[in-house]
Amino acid sequence: MVNEWKAEHPIWFANEDIHDADEPYLPALLEEGFALWSREAGGLDSFCTGHYGIYTKDAACCGATGRESLRDDDEIGQAARSAALSAVENDAFSKYSSERFEAIAVPVRRRSDHIIFAVFVYITAISSVSNRQELEAAALHFRSCFYRAFEQMYVKDLIITQQRADREASRRDALFLAARRLYDQTDVTSILEEMLRSLASLYPSSEVHLYLSQDYVEGDPRIKPLVFKNTAHDIVAQAFLDGKPATEHDRDGQIRLAVPMTGKQAAYGVLCITICREKWDESDIPAFLLIAGTAGTAFENAKLYEQSNLLINELRLINEMTKRLNQSLRLKEIFKFATKELLSIFEADYCCVLQLDKSTNHFVVKSSNIPDMASEQFSPEYGFCGIIYRTKEPLIISDYWNTRVVTSKLMDNTGSRSLIAAPIFGDGEVVGVILVTHKIPNFFSYENYKLLQVMSTHIGLAVTNASLHAEVRRMVITDNLTGLHARHYLDEQIQSRQRKDLFGSLILVDIDFFKRINDTYGHQVGDRILIQVSQIISSSIRHGDIAARWGGEELAIYLPGIRTEQALRIAERIRKQVADETDPSVTVSCGVSEWTFDNDKISVESLFYRADMALYEAKNKGRNCIIVGEH
Ligand code: GH3
Ligand code: MG
Ligand code: MG
Repeated sequence: MVNEWKAEHPIWFANEDIHDADEPYLPALLEEGFALWSREAGGLDSFCTGHYGIYTKDAACCGATGRESLRDDDEIGQAARSAALSAVENDAFSKYSSERFEAIAVPVRRRSDHIIFAVFVYITAISSVSNRQELEAAALHFRSCFYRAFEQMYVKDLIITQQRADREASRRDALFLAARRLYDQTDVTSILEEMLRSLASLYPSSEVHLYLSQDYVEGDPRIKPLVFKNTAHDIVAQAFLDGKPATEHDRDGQIRLAVPMTGKQAAYGVLCITICREKWDESDIPAFLLIAGTAGTAFENAKLYEQSNLLINELRLINEMTKRLNQSLRLKEIFKFATKELLSIFEADYCCVLQLDKSTNHFVVKSSNIPDMASEQFSPEYGFCGIIYRTKEPLIISDYWNTRVVTSKLMDNTGSRSLIAAPIFGDGEVVGVILVTHKIPNFFSYENYKLLQVMSTHIGLAVTNASLHAEVRRMVITDNLTGLHARHYLDEQIQSRQRKDLFGSLILVDIDFFKRINDTYGHQVGDRILIQVSQIISSSIRHGDIAARWGGEELAIYLPGIRTEQALRIAERIRKQVADETDPSVTVSCGVSEWTFDNDKISVESLFYRADMALYEAKNKGRNCIIVGEH
C-alpha cells in the first residue's frame, strides 16, 4: 500500500532542484552532502589509496577525506583544483597529472537540467591505478547524498517558515483579541489593566511598565507617574517628548523599548518593555507598537467617555440644584439646601456657607454641618474667606497642612486637609463664600473645583433673587413715612394669629386735633410728629407685636397672646410718652379691644370695629385717654 501511494504520488519536493540563485548556500550544502557520503562510503578500498574531495565550479574545496591539504595551495591541492577546473571547462570527466599525483575529476550535475554544479575529485599517487567506473559510481553516490542533504534542508526551511507563519498567526490572533478587549473597555482603569495583561501574555518573559503623564492612580506597581528628570538619559521621557519609540541596551544584557501611548489628541504616557537580549526579536516591535497605539486610542476614548459622563452628570446636578434653589425665595432655606447638596455632590466631609453682612462688614456663617460654626462671624480679612473676598476668585487647596497660606478655623477645627471654595456674587460683588472640605488630602479634583464655581454662580443668583424678593416684600409691607408695617400686613398677621392663638389685643392710636397741628405748623411738621409717635410706639412694644399705620394719623398695634388688662398698660405707657416727648407736643387717644378663642365670631373686622368704637368714646370723653371696648 505504502509503495503504491509513493508511486502514484511521488514526493513533490523530489522535483525541486538547486538553482543558480542558491549559489551562496552551495558550499555549506556540498560540505554537508560530502560528510554524509564519506560516512556512508567510508569502507571503500580507494579511501586507503587516495583522497576524495568536493569542489565548487570555481574549484573551491568544500570537503575532503583524509587529507586536509587538499584545501592547501601545495602540489596535491593544486593538482586536485586543476582537475576540477578542467572538468568544468570540458564539461566532462577530466584527469590532471602533476609530478607525483594524478587527480581525476567527475562533474556532479543537477538532477533536472544536468548542468554541472560541483566537481567530485579523487587524487592518488601517480603510481596508483584508479578505476574510472568506481569513481563515477562514487560521484553518483555523492550526488544522492547531496540531494538528500538538500531535501532535508529544504524541508527544514519549510518547517521553520511554517512555524514562523504559525507563530505570526497566533500573535495576530492574540493582538486582534487584545485590541478587541481594549476597545470593549469604557473606563480608564480597565483599559490599563487589559493592556498590561495582554502584553504580559504576548511577551511572557518581559517586564512591562506604564508611565502616565496625568491621571496617575496609585495601586498597580506597573503603573508609574511620568517624571521629566534628566530627560537626555531617560528613554521614557525621550519617547514621550519625541512622540516616537526609543530603545536602550543596558549593561546587564537587557533591552528596553519605550513607546509613547498616543491617541488622536494627545500623548497620555509611555509603555516600556524590558526584555533580555536573547529573547529580543526585532519582529516583535510592530506588535508592541500596535498594542501601544490601540491602548492610546482606547484610553483616549475612555477618557472622553468619562469626561462626557461627568459633564452630563454635572449638568444634571446643576439643573436639579437651580430648579430647587429657584423654588425657594427664603435665604435661610437656600443656604441650608445648598449646604446639603454640596456635601452630597462632592462627597465632602464639611461645608460652610457664609454671607457678608453689610451692616457689620463681617462674614456670617449662614449654614454649615458643623454645629460649632453656627452663626460664627469673621472679619473679611480672615482665612480663606479673606482671600476670596480680596481676589474674587475660587480656590483649591490640595493639602492645607503643607500649604498654610492662611489660618482657617474651619480647617483647624475639623481636621480638614482638602478644600475647594468659591465666592457667591451679587451684583458683581462678593456677597458670600462657599467652603467645602475633606479630611483626606488631594481629595477634590480639578473638575470638582470647576463644578463648585458653576454651582456658586447659581447659588449667587438664587441669593440675589431671594434678597430682592425680601426687599420688595419689606417695601410692600412697610409704610414709607413711619417705617411701621402697612395696613394689609397687619390684617394678614392678625388673621393668621387668630387661627393659632388663644387670644390677642388691638390698640388703635389716633392723634388728637392733628388737623390743627397741620394747620398751625404745616404738613411737614405734622409728618415729623407722626414719625415721633410711631417711634414711641415701636420702642414700647415687644418683638412679636405688630405696629402698623392704619390710615392717615391713625396707628394700630396688635399684641398677640395679650389680654386687655396688659394692653391697657401698654397703651397708657404710649399715651404718657407721647404727651411728654412729642415736639410740638401732641396727645393721643386710644381704643383697645381683644378677642379670645371662645368669642362667637372671631374676625379682624370685629376686632377693629370694637377698638374703633372705644376710640370714638375716648375722643368723646375729651381725648388724651384710653377706652377698652366691649366684647
Ligand atoms: P381728632 O382729635 O378728632 O382726631 O381731630 P383730628 O384733627 O386729628 O381729626 P381729623 O380726622 O379731622 O383730621 C385728621 C387729620 O390728619 C387730617 C389730615 O390733614 C391729617 N393727616 C392725615 N394723614 C396725614 C399725614 O400723613 N401727614 C400729615 N401731616 N397730616 C395727616
Ligand atoms: Mg386725630
Ligand atoms: Mg383720625
